Amino acid sequence: MKTHLWIYTSESLTWIAASLKAASTHQRSTHTAQKIREWNRSFLADHGKMPLNLYGAWSASMLDKGDLAQEIHAHLQSIGKWVSATDIVRFLDTDEIKSRYGLKRTISLATAQRWMHTMDYRWTKELSGQYVDGHEREDIVTYRQSVFLPTMAELQWNVRVWKDGIEEICEDAPRPQPRWTVIWYHDESTFYANDRRKVRWVRSDETAVPRPKGEGASLMVADFISADYGWLRFGDESARVLFKAGRSREGYFTNEDILSQVSNAMDILDRHRPDEDHVFIFDNATTHLKRPDDALSARKMSKAPTREGFPLWGVETNVIGDDGKLLYGPNGKLLKQKVWMGDAQFADGRPQSLYFPDGHPRAGIFKGMAIILQERGFADAGTIRAECPKFKCEKGATQCCCRRILFNQPDFVNVPSTLETACQTRGYRVFFLLKFHCELNFIEQCWGDAKRKYRLNPPSSSEDDLEHNVVAALDSVSIVKMRRFATRALRFMDAYRRGLNGRQASWAAKKYRGHRTLPNSILDELAAQESSR
Ligand SMILES: [Zn+2]
Repeated sequence: MKTHLWIYTSESLTWIAASLKAASTHQRSTHTAQKIREWNRSFLADHGKMPLNLYGAWSASMLDKGDLAQEIHAHLQSIGKWVSATDIVRFLDTDEIKSRYGLKRTISLATAQRWMHTMDYRWTKELSGQYVDGHEREDIVTYRQSVFLPTMAELQWNVRVWKDGIEEICEDAPRPQPRWTVIWYHDESTFYANDRRKVRWVRSDETAVPRPKGEGASLMVADFISADYGWLRFGDESARVLFKAGRSREGYFTNEDILSQVSNAMDILDRHRPDEDHVFIFDNATTHLKRPDDALSARKMSKAPTREGFPLWGVETNVIGDDGKLLYGPNGKLLKQKVWMGDAQFADGRPQSLYFPDGHPRAGIFKGMAIILQERGFADAGTIRAECPKFKCEKGATQCCCRRILFNQPDFVNVPSTLETACQTRGYRVFFLLKFHCELNFIEQCWGDAKRKYRLNPPSSSEDDLEHNVVAALDSVSIVKMRRFATRALRFMDAYRRGLNGRQASWAAKKYRGHRTLPNSILDELAAQESSR
């Protein structure tokens, strides 16, 4: 735009000729020249108007268009374990997709690669440059089959069952407990002010600062949802948190934020639904898994007790003032202090201090791994080496070195996160979702549904509108719809329970739309379907 005006005023060319020259300077087409003329006319008519983040917004909003991202996921998953960015390029080149999303042509390979990166939560890039479906990762499959699904199956005994959004009462269903269990899924999602159209005009005096990704101002929503009640809200009490995410705004959603949100949620449930058992399911973001500062960890322990004259062995924590706020030193850095690591636990549940007790000649000194192990019955721990070179123990080895033995002790393995502790002490169960398996958290689809409604709003740049529109969009998701989404998630769980992999599960979930479980013949059907390909 600037080039155009410069050429027009300095080179005595016509308005159109100047725009063509400006476009070609930037290796752009005549179409761009036409756009430049349009923008500049508008700019001259109202000096405050500038187009915002043209190119960033194009590609970012494309991916957010309708269910495009989800369709790409489904397509990539149907290809198999290994996919590449070219597969997206080809997929978008099909007539069906082009007409549905109003695309004139497919995207470039570079854009496809960027999209793969954006969708990284599901596809992990391997050294080969190919992407592997997170559904097939060994550690994830193990957690899915041996922890997540059995826990969900156990909970299903006492949850209400829905068919097509209406409660289905099964008289003959076994109900070992007289109380209902309500499962609350937690998640966070961000709504963008510009998530509507490719180009938006803003006045330059607006505070909406152009952001590098082109999404404009944004609002993050963190909430809980259940198939029983919808959003966690009773009367005028709600567990929802609206949050302006991003630097120089209100910061990010931290471990403290999630703790205060869940504590509010428990207060509300205590008041309004005390006769039911509540379970919270969180995704396994690091902010959710954070352990207390003084949590047990064998990582930095020495084998022998701390030698005389050496500083206290322990963990560093922030210093907190009388007002409950963090204290800073004169250099502006957070003040730190060394404190004892918390107690370990013997197999029978008694606490085991990691430090010599009062009355001991070396009271308060760290015992070292050898003594800690001896107290647990590993009599010859003193003769075992501290750790294998670089702690790369042989595969399957459990007794090779002191650090490995401690690592595998149940109390060292099962250190609860601060989030788990906060909920469990109040009688609420907590567990964590699988990485890469967003199809198991039906709140994802509720966000998607709310965003479709949100995009119908007229464009606006004021933050009040943003908040108002987001809340209205969230409230527009009906309970019947939520329950259908929940049923779909159950269908996926059933598929994984029957041993289907990610690709097979999405095929089966689609085929048996509306069902909570899959028929027993599903494996035969799969075999027939796959041999016919
Ligand atoms: Zn070892």
